[in-house]
Amino acid sequence: MARLLIIGCGGVARVAIAKCCQNKDIFQEIMIASRTKEKCDALAEELRPTTSTVITTAQIDAMNVEALTALIRNYRPDAVLNVALPYQDLAIMDACLAAGVHYIDTANYEPEDTDDPAWRKIYEERCRREGFSAYFDYSWQWAYQEKYRAAGLTALCGTGFDPGVTSVFAAYAKKHYFDRIDTIDILDCNGGDHGYPFATNFNPEINLREVSAPGSYWENGHWVEIPAMSVKRTYDFPEVGEKDMYLLHHEEIEALGAHMPEVKRIRFFMTFGQSYLTHMKCLEDVGMLSTTPVNFEGHEIVPIQFLKALLPDPATLGRRTVGKTNIGCIFTGEKDGKPKKLYIYNVCDHQACYREVGSQAISYTTGVPAMIGAMMVVTGKWQKPGVYTTDEFDPDPYMEALNRWGLPWTVEEDPQVVE
Ligand code: NDP
Repeated sequence: MARLLIIGCGGVARVAIAKCCQNKDIFQEIMIASRTKEKCDALAEELRPTTSTVITTAQIDAMNVEALTALIRNYRPDAVLNVALPYQDLAIMDACLAAGVHYIDTANYEPEDTDDPAWRKIYEERCRREGFSAYFDYSWQWAYQEKYRAAGLTALCGTGFDPGVTSVFAAYAKKHYFDRIDTIDILDCNGGDHGYPFATNFNPEINLREVSAPGSYWENGHWVEIPAMSVKRTYDFPEVGEKDMYLLHHEEIEALGAHMPEVKRIRFFMTFGQSYLTHMKCLEDVGMLSTTPVNFEGHEIVPIQFLKALLPDPATLGRRTVGKTNIGCIFTGEKDGKPKKLYIYNVCDHQACYREVGSQAISYTTGVPAMIGAMMVVTGKWQKPGVYTTDEFDPDPYMEALNRWGLPWTVEEDPQVVE
């Protein structure tokens, strides 16, 4: 029925591609195109015996809009699923516009070079105007709204788990359980253990940038920013147990704040163990998280990229990781004149994911919603011209798909709330 071009062939892509191959009645043809073609070929070879989906591969530098446009025109997909890195978002959106196809991604744009003076000027103005200092924000992609509208194309931004499923949970809670939502707490718990002293569960550069940045949350219509890791809470997660979690800035807060203005407070918490935090602080203190190039014995190196080369490849963690993730949202508000509390969450087992698709649960919980988002767009269930996040569509078909494709969810009435 549909033909999908998938860009990127890393940890998340592996799961999204495996899931497209399972969902072979929808995704009859896929192309895997990435910077390193050998990875695409190896994955295609592994999956071909398991599926009737026709898989082709290509080499592409997604930053090269002209080459990517030509590839899209040549393959003629119904949509492009971007599971490369956030750095490529705008280039891929440009190529999709030029070639006239729908666009889907899992993370919002951030620049690779945060020292670029042109970008920095806009960024600093935004920090002052909006009051949060994360490198990523939706303004860059929301700026494509009119272009996508005029072209009659859908851009679906951020269909991973968080962002992605968490915003679908919010739309679902609003549709079925609340007359008014007052607060949303998004809780991301990884109770997994990979046995290394230090490793990141997805792309180290993106991950370490995110967690070393100041935290922020949305309250009464504006951002409140706090020093990195300065708000800590403990929560007893279903099927995982008690964990420490820290308030972080996260991209779905921006979209939910804009689209659900009645919500008074939106926060995001992620669990971290003490060993992870100690390693990260030390790496930060010695400058290893810097994105500014340094000259080392005649070579220019970017510290965080060098660190990435030293750390275990997240794609190799699956085999070693045991335990479960629990990601979900706690809502408070009102229904039929009475106060209401609700928790919607998914629990995912690292080893079960590994047995199914050869990946740990972090890649799994992102790759499955990436496939589901692509399915919503190519089947027309979620198509409207413009640039949208996952809270802006009917949540019901997406929620059904989560149950069917490996991320079943639980609704708990009257949960413990976060103070
Ligand atoms: P990986 O680093 O494992 O994979 C990235 C892939 O993109 C690699 O195959 C890489 O190629 C390819 N790539 C990088 N640059 C280019 C380029 N210029 N042109 C073409 N291909 C390129 O990342 P992950 O799989 O961990 O993450 C993928 C995406 O998912 C990221 O955007 C991340 O932020 C997002 N994410 C979203 C989450 C959510 O819940 N919403 C959670 C986790 C991740 P090569 O093999 O040559 O390096």
